[in-house]
Amino acid sequence: MNKPRIAFLGLGIMGSGMAGRLLNAGFPLTVFNRNREKAAPLEAAGARVASSAREASAAADVIISMVADDNASRAVWLGAQGALSAQSAGVVCIESSTVTVSWVRELSSTALGHGCEFLDAPVTGSKVHAASGELNFLVGGASATLEKARPVLGAMSKAITPLGPVGSGALLKLINNFVCGVQVASLAESIAMIERSGLDRAKALEILITGAPGSPLVKTVAGRMMAQDYAPNFLLRLMAKDLGYAIEEGGKFSIELCTAVAALRAFQKSLAAGQGDKDIAAIVEQFRNT
Ligand code: NAP
Repeated sequence: MNKPRIAFLGLGIMGSGMAGRLLNAGFPLTVFNRNREKAAPLEAAGARVASSAREASAAADVIISMVADDNASRAVWLGAQGALSAQSAGVVCIESSTVTVSWVRELSSTALGHGCEFLDAPVTGSKVHAASGELNFLVGGASATLEKARPVLGAMSKAITPLGPVGSGALLKLINNFVCGVQVASLAESIAMIERSGLDRAKALEILITGAPGSPLVKTVAGRMMAQDYAPNFLLRLMAKDLGYAIEEGGKFSIELCTAVAALRAFQKSLAAGQGDKDIAAIVEQFRNT
Protein backbone atom coordinates (compact mmCIF):
# COMPACT_ATOMS: atom_id res chain seq x y z
CA MET A 1 0.00 0.00 0.00
CA ASN A 2 1.29 3.48 -0.85
CA LYS A 3 2.40 5.56 2.09
CA PRO A 4 0.39 8.74 2.70
CA ARG A 5 1.90 11.97 1.41
CA ILE A 6 2.79 14.24 4.31
CA ALA A 7 3.05 18.00 4.62
CA PHE A 8 5.09 19.05 7.66
CA LEU A 9 4.80 22.68 8.79
CA GLY A 10 7.39 24.10 11.19
CA LEU A 11 11.02 22.97 11.28
CA GLY A 12 12.20 24.30 14.63
CA ILE A 13 13.94 22.29 17.32
CA MET A 14 11.14 19.71 17.44
CA GLY A 15 9.76 19.84 13.90
CA SER A 16 13.12 19.29 12.21
CA GLY A 17 13.68 16.06 14.16
CA MET A 18 10.12 14.84 13.63
CA ALA A 19 10.17 15.54 9.90
CA GLY A 20 13.53 13.76 9.66
CA ARG A 21 11.96 10.64 11.19
CA LEU A 22 9.17 10.71 8.60
CA LEU A 23 11.68 11.02 5.79
CA ASN A 24 13.75 8.12 7.17
CA ALA A 25 10.59 6.01 7.39
CA GLY A 26 10.00 6.53 3.67
CA PHE A 27 6.96 8.84 3.71
CA PRO A 28 6.74 11.21 0.72
CA LEU A 29 7.41 14.48 2.54
CA THR A 30 6.93 18.15 1.70
CA VAL A 31 8.05 20.64 4.33
CA PHE A 32 7.42 24.30 4.99
CA ASN A 33 9.17 26.65 7.40
CA ARG A 34 8.68 30.41 7.62
CA ASN A 35 12.44 30.88 7.60
CA ARG A 36 13.31 28.72 4.60
CA GLU A 37 16.95 28.23 5.58
CA LYS A 38 15.93 25.75 8.27
CA ALA A 39 14.57 23.45 5.55
CA ALA A 40 17.98 23.03 3.87
CA PRO A 41 19.11 19.89 5.77
CA LEU A 42 15.81 18.12 5.04
CA GLU A 43 15.94 19.19 1.40
CA ALA A 44 19.44 17.70 1.17
CA ALA A 45 18.05 14.50 2.69
CA GLY A 46 15.31 14.25 0.04
CA ALA A 47 12.30 16.28 1.25
CA ARG A 48 10.48 18.65 -1.08
CA VAL A 49 10.50 22.22 0.21
CA ALA A 50 7.45 24.43 -0.33
CA SER A 51 7.36 28.20 -0.10
CA SER A 52 4.06 28.31 1.79
CA ALA A 53 1.97 26.07 4.04
CA ARG A 54 -0.67 26.14 1.30
CA GLU A 55 1.78 24.86 -1.31
CA ALA A 56 3.15 22.21 1.06
CA SER A 57 -0.34 20.91 1.80
CA ALA A 58 -1.87 21.04 -1.67
CA ALA A 59 -1.27 17.36 -2.47
CA ALA A 60 -1.00 15.99 1.06
CA ASP A 61 -2.99 13.19 2.69
CA VAL A 62 -1.78 14.15 6.18
CA ILE A 63 -0.75 17.62 7.38
CA ILE A 64 1.22 18.06 10.61
CA SER A 65 1.95 21.39 12.26
CA MET A 66 4.70 21.87 14.88
CA VAL A 67 5.03 25.60 15.46
CA ALA A 68 5.52 27.92 18.43
CA ASP A 69 2.10 28.95 19.73
CA ASP A 70 -1.56 29.79 18.96
CA ASN A 71 -0.60 32.70 16.69
CA ALA A 72 1.87 30.65 14.68
CA SER A 73 -0.61 27.79 14.39
CA ARG A 74 -3.33 30.17 13.18
CA ALA A 75 -0.92 31.55 10.58
CA VAL A 76 0.13 28.17 9.16
CA TRP A 77 -3.41 26.72 9.05
CA LEU A 78 -5.68 29.69 8.41
CA GLY A 79 -3.46 32.43 6.98
CA ALA A 80 -3.92 33.59 3.38
CA GLN A 81 -1.19 31.10 2.42
CA GLY A 82 -2.26 28.66 5.12
CA ALA A 83 -2.70 24.92 4.81
CA LEU A 84 -6.49 24.94 4.99
CA SER A 85 -6.80 27.43 2.13
CA ALA A 86 -5.86 24.58 -0.25
CA GLN A 87 -7.63 21.69 1.37
CA SER A 88 -9.97 19.11 -0.02
CA ALA A 89 -12.09 16.57 1.83
CA GLY A 90 -10.54 13.54 3.51
CA VAL A 91 -7.21 15.04 4.55
CA VAL A 92 -6.07 14.32 8.12
CA CYS A 93 -4.94 17.53 9.86
CA ILE A 94 -2.77 17.13 12.99
CA GLU A 95 -1.81 19.96 15.35
CA SER A 96 1.21 18.85 17.41
CA SER A 97 2.27 22.27 18.73
CA THR A 98 1.59 23.10 22.38
CA VAL A 99 -1.40 25.40 22.01
CA THR A 100 -4.58 26.26 23.90
CA VAL A 101 -7.64 24.04 24.11
CA SER A 102 -9.90 26.78 22.77
CA TRP A 103 -7.66 27.24 19.73
CA VAL A 104 -7.53 23.53 18.81
CA ARG A 105 -11.31 23.33 19.16
CA GLU A 106 -11.71 26.30 16.81
CA LEU A 107 -9.18 24.84 14.40
CA SER A 108 -10.88 21.46 14.48
CA SER A 109 -14.27 23.01 13.61
CA THR A 110 -12.70 24.89 10.71
CA ALA A 111 -10.91 21.78 9.45
CA LEU A 112 -14.09 19.73 9.70
CA GLY A 113 -15.88 22.51 7.80
CA HIS A 114 -13.41 21.91 4.96
CA GLY A 115 -14.29 18.20 5.00
CA CYS A 116 -10.98 17.30 6.70
CA GLU A 117 -10.43 15.18 9.81
CA PHE A 118 -8.60 16.60 12.82
CA LEU A 119 -6.46 15.49 15.77
CA ASP A 120 -4.74 17.52 18.44
CA ALA A 121 -1.58 15.55 19.13
CA PRO A 122 0.95 17.51 21.18
CA VAL A 123 4.01 15.65 22.41
CA THR A 124 5.99 14.96 25.53
CA GLY A 125 9.73 14.49 25.09
CA SER A 126 12.22 17.04 23.85
CA LYS A 127 14.77 17.67 21.08
CA VAL A 128 16.58 14.35 21.52
CA HIS A 129 13.33 12.34 21.54
CA ALA A 130 12.06 14.14 18.42
CA ALA A 131 15.27 13.26 16.57
CA SER A 132 15.22 9.62 17.71
CA GLY A 133 11.49 8.98 17.19
CA GLU A 134 10.80 8.53 20.91
CA LEU A 135 8.09 11.09 21.56
CA ASN A 136 4.77 10.40 23.26
CA PHE A 137 1.75 11.77 21.40
CA LEU A 138 -1.15 12.93 23.59
CA VAL A 139 -4.09 12.63 21.25
CA GLY A 140 -7.53 14.23 21.20
CA GLY A 141 -9.98 13.37 18.44
CA ALA A 142 -11.96 10.55 16.87
CA SER A 143 -10.46 7.07 17.19
CA ALA A 144 -11.10 6.35 13.49
CA THR A 145 -8.97 9.40 12.61
CA LEU A 146 -6.25 8.29 14.99
CA GLU A 147 -6.19 4.85 13.35
CA LYS A 148 -5.62 6.53 9.96
CA ALA A 149 -2.81 8.64 11.43
CA ARG A 150 -1.26 5.91 13.58
CA PRO A 151 1.42 4.74 11.08
CA VAL A 152 2.54 8.35 10.63
CA LEU A 153 2.59 9.17 14.35
CA GLY A 154 4.22 5.79 15.01
CA ALA A 155 7.28 6.77 12.96
CA MET A 156 7.93 9.66 15.36
CA SER A 157 7.05 8.09 18.70
CA LYS A 158 7.46 5.36 21.25
CA ALA A 159 3.92 5.86 22.58
CA ILE A 160 0.58 7.20 21.40
CA THR A 161 -1.92 8.00 24.15
CA PRO A 162 -5.54 8.57 23.08
CA LEU A 163 -7.28 10.82 25.61
CA GLY A 164 -10.78 11.60 24.33
CA PRO A 165 -12.36 14.34 22.24
CA VAL A 166 -10.49 17.14 20.45
CA GLY A 167 -8.82 19.35 23.03
CA SER A 168 -7.95 16.50 25.44
CA GLY A 169 -4.38 16.24 24.15
CA ALA A 170 -3.87 20.00 24.37
CA LEU A 171 -5.24 20.11 27.91
CA LEU A 172 -3.06 17.29 29.25
CA LYS A 173 0.01 18.77 27.54
CA LEU A 174 -0.56 22.10 29.30
CA ILE A 175 -1.05 20.34 32.64
CA ASN A 176 2.17 18.38 31.99
CA ASN A 177 4.16 21.51 31.18
CA PHE A 178 2.71 23.41 34.14
CA VAL A 179 4.23 20.75 36.41
CA CYS A 180 7.51 20.90 34.44
CA GLY A 181 7.71 24.70 34.61
CA VAL A 182 7.16 24.73 38.36
CA GLN A 183 9.85 22.09 38.87
CA VAL A 184 12.39 24.04 36.82
CA ALA A 185 11.68 27.30 38.68
CA SER A 186 11.96 25.53 42.06
CA LEU A 187 15.19 23.84 41.03
CA ALA A 188 16.66 27.20 40.00
CA GLU A 189 15.87 28.71 43.40
CA SER A 190 17.23 25.66 45.21
CA ILE A 191 20.53 25.78 43.30
CA ALA A 192 20.92 29.49 44.09
CA MET A 193 20.25 28.75 47.76
CA ILE A 194 22.81 25.94 47.81
CA GLU A 195 25.43 28.14 46.11
CA ARG A 196 24.89 31.21 48.30
CA SER A 197 24.83 29.23 51.53
CA GLY A 198 28.22 27.72 50.96
CA LEU A 199 26.93 24.14 51.09
CA ASP A 200 29.02 21.65 49.12
CA ARG A 201 27.34 22.08 45.73
CA ALA A 202 28.11 18.64 44.32
CA LYS A 203 26.98 16.81 47.46
CA ALA A 204 23.82 18.89 47.79
CA LEU A 205 22.81 18.38 44.15
CA GLU A 206 23.48 14.66 44.44
CA ILE A 207 20.98 14.47 47.32
CA LEU A 208 18.31 16.32 45.33
CA ILE A 209 18.88 14.38 42.11
CA THR A 210 19.02 10.90 43.60
CA GLY A 211 16.28 11.55 46.15
CA ALA A 212 12.57 12.25 45.99
CA PRO A 213 12.80 15.55 44.05
CA GLY A 214 14.94 13.94 41.32
CA SER A 215 12.42 13.69 38.48
CA PRO A 216 13.79 12.97 34.99
CA LEU A 217 13.38 16.68 34.22
CA VAL A 218 15.12 17.85 37.40
CA LYS A 219 18.01 15.45 36.71
CA THR A 220 18.49 16.72 33.15
CA VAL A 221 18.02 20.41 33.82
CA ALA A 222 20.18 20.40 36.97
CA GLY A 223 23.10 19.19 34.83
CA ARG A 224 22.63 22.08 32.42
CA MET A 225 22.27 24.64 35.24
CA MET A 226 25.47 23.41 36.86
CA ALA A 227 27.37 23.44 33.55
CA GLN A 228 25.76 26.77 32.55
CA ASP A 229 24.95 25.07 29.24
CA TYR A 230 22.01 26.98 27.81
CA ALA A 231 22.06 25.70 24.22
CA PRO A 232 18.34 25.36 23.55
CA ASN A 233 16.54 22.07 23.95
CA PHE A 234 13.37 23.80 25.07
CA LEU A 235 13.29 27.58 24.73
CA LEU A 236 12.69 29.59 27.87
CA ARG A 237 10.11 31.78 26.08
CA LEU A 238 8.08 28.70 25.08
CA MET A 239 7.92 27.49 28.68
CA ALA A 240 6.62 30.94 29.67
CA LYS A 241 4.01 30.58 26.92
CA ASP A 242 2.96 27.16 28.23
CA LEU A 243 2.65 28.40 31.82
CA GLY A 244 0.48 31.30 30.63
CA TYR A 245 -1.74 28.93 28.65
CA ALA A 246 -1.98 26.51 31.59
CA ILE A 247 -3.01 29.30 33.96
CA GLU A 248 -5.73 30.27 31.47
CA GLU A 249 -6.99 26.67 31.31
CA GLY A 250 -6.84 26.29 35.11
CA GLY A 251 -9.06 29.35 35.44
CA LYS A 252 -11.76 27.55 33.44
CA PHE A 253 -11.90 24.97 36.25
CA SER A 254 -11.71 27.69 38.94
CA ILE A 255 -8.19 26.60 39.89
CA GLU A 256 -5.76 29.45 40.30
CA LEU A 257 -2.57 27.43 39.62
CA CYS A 258 -0.76 29.71 42.06
CA THR A 259 2.44 27.67 41.73
CA ALA A 260 2.32 28.21 37.97
CA VAL A 261 1.74 31.94 38.54
CA ALA A 262 4.89 32.11 40.67
CA ALA A 263 6.90 30.08 38.15
CA LEU A 264 5.68 32.25 35.29
CA ARG A 265 6.80 35.37 37.16
CA ALA A 266 10.31 33.91 37.36
CA PHE A 267 10.31 32.92 33.67
CA GLN A 268 9.11 36.43 32.74
CA LYS A 269 12.00 37.94 34.68
CA SER A 270 14.43 35.90 32.56
CA LEU A 271 12.57 36.94 29.42
CA ALA A 272 12.94 40.59 30.42
CA ALA A 273 16.68 39.94 30.86
CA GLY A 274 16.86 38.82 27.22
CA GLN A 275 17.13 35.08 27.86
CA GLY A 276 14.03 33.92 26.00
CA ASP A 277 15.98 32.21 23.24
CA LYS A 278 18.09 30.22 25.68
CA ASP A 279 17.22 26.85 27.17
CA ILE A 280 14.83 26.81 30.15
CA ALA A 281 17.84 26.02 32.37
CA ALA A 282 18.97 29.65 31.99
CA ILE A 283 16.26 30.66 34.48
CA VAL A 284 18.78 29.90 37.24
CA GLU A 285 20.94 32.89 36.25
CA GLN A 286 18.46 35.47 37.61
CA PHE A 287 18.80 33.92 41.07
CA ARG A 288 22.58 33.80 40.79
CA ASN A 289 22.83 37.42 39.67
CA THR A 290 20.67 39.23 42.23
P1 NAP B 1 11.21 26.46 17.89
O1 NAP B 1 12.51 25.79 17.65
O2 NAP B 1 11.21 27.86 18.37
O3 NAP B 1 10.36 26.38 16.53
C1 NAP B 1 9.19 27.14 16.39
C2 NAP B 1 8.65 26.97 15.00
O4 NAP B 1 7.46 27.79 14.85
C3 NAP B 1 9.62 27.41 13.89
O5 NAP B 1 9.43 26.57 12.77
C4 NAP B 1 9.12 28.82 13.60
O6 NAP B 1 9.44 29.30 12.30
C5 NAP B 1 7.63 28.60 13.71
N1 NAP B 1 6.88 29.85 13.87
C6 NAP B 1 6.92 30.69 14.94
N2 NAP B 1 6.09 31.74 14.73
C7 NAP B 1 5.53 31.55 13.51
C8 NAP B 1 4.58 32.27 12.74
N3 NAP B 1 4.03 33.41 13.22
N4 NAP B 1 4.24 31.80 11.53
C9 NAP B 1 4.78 30.64 11.06
N5 NAP B 1 5.68 29.89 11.74
C10 NAP B 1 6.04 30.35 12.95
O7 NAP B 1 10.32 25.62 18.93
P2 NAP B 1 10.21 24.04 19.19
O8 NAP B 1 10.99 23.73 20.40
O9 NAP B 1 10.42 23.30 17.93
O10 NAP B 1 8.66 23.95 19.62
C11 NAP B 1 7.60 23.79 18.68
C12 NAP B 1 6.34 23.47 19.49
O11 NAP B 1 6.54 22.26 20.23
C13 NAP B 1 5.99 24.55 20.53
O12 NAP B 1 4.59 24.64 20.64
C14 NAP B 1 6.59 23.99 21.80
O13 NAP B 1 5.96 24.51 22.96
C15 NAP B 1 6.36 22.51 21.62
N6 NAP B 1 7.24 21.58 22.33
C16 NAP B 1 8.59 21.83 22.44
C17 NAP B 1 9.39 20.90 23.09
C18 NAP B 1 10.87 21.10 23.26
O14 NAP B 1 11.47 20.44 24.14
N7 NAP B 1 11.55 21.92 22.47
C19 NAP B 1 8.84 19.71 23.61
C20 NAP B 1 7.48 19.48 23.43
C21 NAP B 1 6.69 20.41 22.79
P3 NAP B 1 10.81 30.16 12.09
O15 NAP B 1 11.91 29.13 12.03
O16 NAP B 1 10.57 30.84 10.79
O17 NAP B 1 10.94 31.09 13.24
